Amino acid sequence: MNVNTKISFTQNTNSTLSEVNFNELDFGKYMSDHMLLAHYKNGAWQEPSIVPFGPIPMMPTILALHYGQSVFEGMKAFKMADGKISIFRIKKHFDRLQRTLARMCMPPLTFELFEESIKALVEVDKGWVPEKDGSSLYIRPLIYANEEKFGVKISEEYLMIIMTGPVPPFYPKPLRVKIEDRYGRAAIGGTGAAKCAGNYGGAFFATQLARENGFDQVLWTDLSEDLNIEESGTMNVFFLIDGKLITPPLSETILEGVTRDSIIIMAREMGITVEERKISAKEILAAHEAGILQEAFGAGTAAVTAPICAIGLKEKTIELPPYDSNSVCMKLQQLLTAMRKGTLPDKFGWNTVVA
Ligand SMILES: *Cc1c(COP(=O)(O)O)cnc(C)c1O
Repeated sequence: MNVNTKISFTQNTNSTLSEVNFNELDFGKYMSDHMLLAHYKNGAWQEPSIVPFGPIPMMPTILALHYGQSVFEGMKAFKMADGKISIFRIKKHFDRLQRTLARMCMPPLTFELFEESIKALVEVDKGWVPEKDGSSLYIRPLIYANEEKFGVKISEEYLMIIMTGPVPPFYPKPLRVKIEDRYGRAAIGGTGAAKCAGNYGGAFFATQLARENGFDQVLWTDLSEDLNIEESGTMNVFFLIDGKLITPPLSETILEGVTRDSIIIMAREMGITVEERKISAKEILAAHEAGILQEAFGAGTAAVTAPICAIGLKEKTIELPPYDSNSVCMKLQQLLTAMRKGTLPDKFGWNTVVA
């Protein structure tokens, strides 16, 4: 381990790697043998340790459970075409985590601690990185308040846990989404741009209602009269209208996706005009009416792109044209996969090669 950050290591003597069927992965089905723990106390991050993956003892009074100081990241490591392992856009994920931590009054990390921790963990469990095209090692850094205190306060102690697990390529069947005109995911002035646990808990109810009505996800809006679109479920969202790719502009109610950023860059590389601007429910319906709504898709680390086949608003549902390998969202997916596998030159410095 080539690290300036000192990381202690306890080997897992009960490896479950041999029990993994890499042909039948499922998101979250398997966790790798090790996890990394780093405590924050007395005003500083302590030396991390890599230990066997397993339960964490905790008192029922830890602040995260009661008052919600809990944040996370989601990123991936890939087996590259040359057999090496690469972590995708680690700096971009780190920058977002820093913003999230600041928003939640949690202590910042150094990039060195973050990067060395993830690299060391991935290296220890490199046998867990799947080989198959499109599959990956999912990396989940989690940080939560673990001061034991039965009163409302900003925690003075935190635990960072980084855990990983092999996941298959995720090709969702095209999604049916409902434009949400009642419930919000994020409010102006709120925490919508932070990747904090509470944003998810608060979003489940509307999603559950949409599912009961035959949809897979909701298209979140700003709930204004125009119903400006914000995101699709837990993904950012893009619309291809008359050859132009449109995505809502970043704001404090939109989570800044790393995939969103990668897609904007790759689409421009492909010569596609990308507009970051407001797009309302009305504009989407009018574009469909005019026959120029060509594609709509979600964008996130899990799926890369997730095509949308139907969009509902109140009693009306519009159906989009079918997707094939020539669809822009499929081409973007292939391009990004190639970038991550290293079969395209890494001209943006997105890959951190580990081992
Ligand atoms: C994580 C997340 C995304 C997608 O971000 P990626 O970095 O592309 O995975 C989009 N929206 C929300 C609400 C998220 O939590």
